[in-house]
This record gives sequence, structure tokens and C-alpha cells, in this order.
Amino acid sequence: MTKLECNVTNCLHNADNCCCKQSIMVDGHDAKEKEQTCCGSFDENKGGLFKNVFKTPESSLSVDCEAVQCIYNDNRHCAAAKIGIAGDGASRAEQTLCTTFQLS
Ligand code: SF4
Ligand code: SF4
Repeated sequence: MTKLECNVTNCLHNADNCCCKQSIMVDGHDAKEKEQTCCGSFDENKGGLFKNVFKTPESSLSVDCEAVQCIYNDNRHCAAAKIGIAGDGASRAEQTLCTTFQLS
């Protein structure tokens, strides 16, 4: 399990800079820098209709990751103790990224 902080506040799954999903998928199969990764589990909270009042932020979750050239990638699973997902204002998954990515 990986601790996760996420500042993508207009993602449907975000509450208090945390993710409310129990697992996410990070994309970026050919990524050589963090800008080429993204959170594939992003869903835009269109119009802000859904508030996160009934959701529980998960302080740690399971992270599957396609960015196989990252030093933390272990057989398509993230082995980092803590990661950051960024992309405040994102309206598409491609506008998010894993800030912890490091080229191996
Ligand atoms: S962008 Fe990804 S990590 Fe952040 S809240 Fe949404 S699903 Fe969770
Ligand atoms: S730190 Fe690396 S392995 Fe973990 S989610 Fe980010 S890009 Fe994937």
C-alpha cells in the first residue's frame, strides 16, 4: 500500500487532498519524465454536483502503474512508500501526473 496525496481537487474521487478510491491505475507506459504519466482513474467532477461528504479519504491505497521505467515500479505495481498526484484544475486525465516518478 502506498500513501497518496492528490491535489486534483476537481476529480470526483478527491477529498481533502486525498483519494477516496481503494486502488488507482497510473498510466504512462513510455514515460521518461513525470509529465508523461497521469492518473488513469481520474474522473472529472463536472459542475461540482457531487460533494464528497459521503466519501472516506484513503490515506493509503493500492497503486497499479504502467510507467515501467520508474524506479519505484515493481512488476506494474508502485512500490513507493508515498506518492503525489498533481494536476489542480485538470479536466482530463492527461492533465494529471505522478510527481514522484523517477527515471530508473
Ligand atoms: S486524480 Fe487519481 S489519485 Fe487523484 S483523486 Fe482522482 S482518482 Fe484519486
Ligand atoms: S512513483 Fe513511479 S511507479 Fe509509483 S505511481 Fe508514480 S510513476 Fe508509477
